Amino acid sequence: MTRQIKKIGILTSGGDASGMNAAVRSIVRYANYKKLEVVGFYEGFKGLINNNYETLSNNFVGGIIDRGGTVLFTARSEEFKTKEGMETAKKNIESNNIDALVIIGGDGSFRGARDLNNLGISSVGIPATIDNDIFGTDYSLGFDTALNVIISLISKIRDTASSHERIFVIEVMGRNSGELAINSCLAGGADYVLIPEVKVNLVKISNAIKNHREGKRHTLIIVAEGAAKATDVAASIKLLVEHEVRISVLGHIQRGGSPSALDRILASKFSQKAVDFLISGGKNAMVGLQNNKIKTVPFEEVFSKQKGIDKNLYEFAHILAL
Ligand code: ATP
Repeated sequence: MTRQIKKIGILTSGGDASGMNAAVRSIVRYANYKKLEVVGFYEGFKGLINNNYETLSNNFVGGIIDRGGTVLFTARSEEFKTKEGMETAKKNIESNNIDALVIIGGDGSFRGARDLNNLGISSVGIPATIDNDIFGTDYSLGFDTALNVIISLISKIRDTASSHERIFVIEVMGRNSGELAINSCLAGGADYVLIPEVKVNLVKISNAIKNHREGKRHTLIIVAEGAAKATDVAASIKLLVEHEVRISVLGHIQRGGSPSALDRILASKFSQKAVDFLISGGKNAMVGLQNNKIKTVPFEEVFSKQKGIDKNLYEFAHILAL
């Protein structure tokens, strides 16, 4: 028979992503509705080690649905990866009579959750990373908000690029994944996108720019940070095309801000599934969106494959720019 859970802990871990707060709010309100006590650990796994937590009431999570970042704060904890750190975390969880955890973060955070599970601590993960690179879910919290921020910035840059007949290289986040860059190119109406998954060919792009259709006044090139540096891309293209090239590195602006409607709704749906999963005795899995359905995906499956990019979307974004 499944042991009835009474108290759960929540934490946010890894890079902050808009929608984390909306998830914290939904978990607290829904868990309280289900008669579970909820505590929030501050600064991710660091909070588990330092036993830094407080009880989260429905009042505590009032007014946070529209806030970016995370009210529980986040951290990257090397200590947690050590045997001693993990044992301390386990001891604190057990001495506080916490039956299970909800971990909101990326795949690194889920590896930490899996390790805790190996020590007998149950948990469920909620995917949150603007990179949207977690296998097993079509969307992660923060991706849609970041994408919306980026496309609004691309629009502003296009005004200048078009007025001055300029080439702009716009660097977006994505160290290992071109997901954000491809979707920014598609939704922002940019012309080219450079991603870590495809070998960069600046000669080909420069030749295409030289042969642009008559009347085209601007060229927007999106570069994922993991593909190349905007400065290097701009220098090469300037040399090859013999035309002024400007750079815009969007940086941390992409990350914060009030979550989009999609991220808030997804946060609520993920939270309901996560709490129900723990109540039914589930553990060691992530909740995810697959073909518009909320599912649970075992952590081992999440780690078993790379999400990869949609090659068709990558090619189509270029076709639309012709
Ligand atoms: P993002 O995608 O935003 O980087 P993430 O969750 O992948 O989010 P990480 O920095 O990789 O972010 O991981 C967050 C924390 O999870 C780490 O600081 C560490 O405490 C823990 N962690 C990461 N990888 C592991 C691992 N392999 N084993 C145990 N714990 C881990």
